[in-house]
Amino acid sequence: MLKVENVKKAFGPTTVLDGVNLTINPGEVVSILGSSGSGKSTLIRCINGLEKLNGGSITVDDFDVGKPKELAEARKRSATVFQLFNLYPHMTVLGNVTLAPVEVLKKPRAEAEATARALLQSVGLGDRADAYPAQLSGGQRQRVGICRALAMHPRYLLLDEVTSALDPEMTAEVLAILAKLAAEGTTMLFVTHEIEFARQISNRIVFLDKGKLLVDLPTADFFAAEGGMTNPRIAQFLSKMR
Ligand code: ADP
Ligand code: MG
Repeated sequence: MLKVENVKKAFGPTTVLDGVNLTINPGEVVSILGSSGSGKSTLIRCINGLEKLNGGSITVDDFDVGKPKELAEARKRSATVFQLFNLYPHMTVLGNVTLAPVEVLKKPRAEAEATARALLQSVGLGDRADAYPAQLSGGQRQRVGICRALAMHPRYLLLDEVTSALDPEMTAEVLAILAKLAAEGTTMLFVTHEIEFARQISNRIVFLDKGKLLVDLPTADFFAAEGGMTNPRIAQFLSKMR
């Protein structure tokens, strides 16, 4: 579904992604771990086509993100939830969730609203459709952000530290929604600092270190490696996170 091949990205003299390879298959949940500054967000932005690559290629269902004519098709297949709350403040919850389905997918408004209400219901926000973002808690806003992404019927979700600005209680609310999506077979690429959660929901863990993908392992193997038999860099990272 998603193929990242030998991707290189630099900002001026600084190499941020250094030959990254990653394949995501339908139904997989893959978590990206790594220290701050290791290149996680840049990788997500490259997959979105928000950054131009300096080398390598990224394809989504064989559509090349680097080719302007194919980028739109690639983009249609994913939806991203970011760390910061990027809801439109002047629109209601319902307005935020229906905007892109109506404007981009050209869905009839009534149909988009019915889908939005069902999604909001599924994340426990069925009664907040008419609220404005400022009237919601951070956790509620991120749940709306997830609904907005799902309303585009993406083939997979990209999630970049969606809980890092939330307190523990709100984090739990949002992680519960993501666990449910994972259990339903939603394909997800998930950047997170929530190690225990990554362990629970991921099929695979990849670890980025200074722009290099150090490991790409089935989840159980990744945490078994922590025992010290393999990568000291990862053991150090995990011990700091706990
Ligand atoms: P992470 O998400 O893992 O914390 P980022 O991908 O945000 O890491 O950043 C990786 C490195 O790239 C950092 O050193 C950061 O300063 C640098 N970087 C990211 N975006 C830009 C940019 N637009 N211009 C220059 N440097 C950038
Ligand atoms: Mg980041």
